[in-house]
Amino acid sequence: MDQKDFKIDTLSEFFTKKFQVTLTQREPINHDSYMFRFDFKNPKERLGMQAVQHIKIYGLNMKGEIVDRAYTHIFEDDGYFLIPIKIYRPNVHPQFPNGGELTPWLEKLDLHSELTIKRCVGKLFYHNNQFIVRPKLNKTWQQFDTVLLICGGSGITPAYQLIKTICDNPNDNTKMVLLYANKTEQDIWLLKELNELQTKHKDQFTVHFTLDKSDENWKGLKGFVTLEMITSIFPKLTETTLGVLCGPKPMNKLVISLYEQLGLKKDNIVKF
Ligand SMILES: Cc1cc2nc3c(=O)[nH]c(=O)nc-3n(C[C@H](O)[C@H](O)[C@H](O)COP(=O)(O)OP(=O)(O)OC[C@H]3O[C@@H](n4cnc5c(N)ncnc54)[C@H](O)[C@@H]3O)c2cc1C
Repeated sequence: MDQKDFKIDTLSEFFTKKFQVTLTQREPINHDSYMFRFDFKNPKERLGMQAVQHIKIYGLNMKGEIVDRAYTHIFEDDGYFLIPIKIYRPNVHPQFPNGGELTPWLEKLDLHSELTIKRCVGKLFYHNNQFIVRPKLNKTWQQFDTVLLICGGSGITPAYQLIKTICDNPNDNTKMVLLYANKTEQDIWLLKELNELQTKHKDQFTVHFTLDKSDENWKGLKGFVTLEMITSIFPKLTETTLGVLCGPKPMNKLVISLYEQLGLKKDNIVKF
């Protein structure tokens, strides 16, 4: 399909229809996260979305009210897709005694239960080497030579989907530099996959990890994301540099301000 024929109809049934999937697997990844597998009723069906769109999962909070949250699948095949999900448990963080609204429900949901999901239009849309920034407002395709990505914790999933899609496209030479921040080494998701992508596409993709808490064996960056840190790892900006981000709210606020201090135009900064 030609780029000019490619339409994103955010109001189409594709994006607005809710449907049921079945939770078929929930394998632990680390101390607070699982890889969830969701199966369609039809064993041939796929989400079939372009990068970087996500889904909404609907569930219940502690009061029994319906809540929904955004998630990005990192793999799909005929009939199913996989999403890593971090659980915000109650009574873990003193500031959040109730934990998160949706994820404690997802942790307890019985295997083989059905749940409701919906496809969503994200803030960035990638197809064949080009992007549409904020597709709900704007339909102009843009080409970026470089994409800078700053992610925290579970915010890696949309970034990984984008990086993988670009690396898998032999016609796309977009350079990508990822800064991935986590609390500890155990919290890093997709470590092997990100390192493999960097090795396989070394002229195109570079990843840096930073940790809040690390021991003396840690060879990556240390501490919170700072202007000095990003200045030292990111290439010089051009008119066609895009800065994307996804992380916890306070981190997002900081990262947007750091991108601006680095010199990125507001229009070229996108939170997934
Ligand atoms: C585009 C996009 C894609 C996403 N993809 C993924 C994904 O693939 N996988 C994924 O896991 N998440 C993903 N998220 C995050 C997800 O949408 C939810 O925000 C997350 O699962 C938390 O939902 P919740 O209802 O459990 O928590 P909420 O009720 O929304 O509260 C979460 C916030 O409460 C605080 N909090 C609550 N409990 C604790 C605790 N025990 N410890 C520390 N802080 C706590 C934290 O500030 C946390 O950020 C994505 C978000 C976006 C915007």
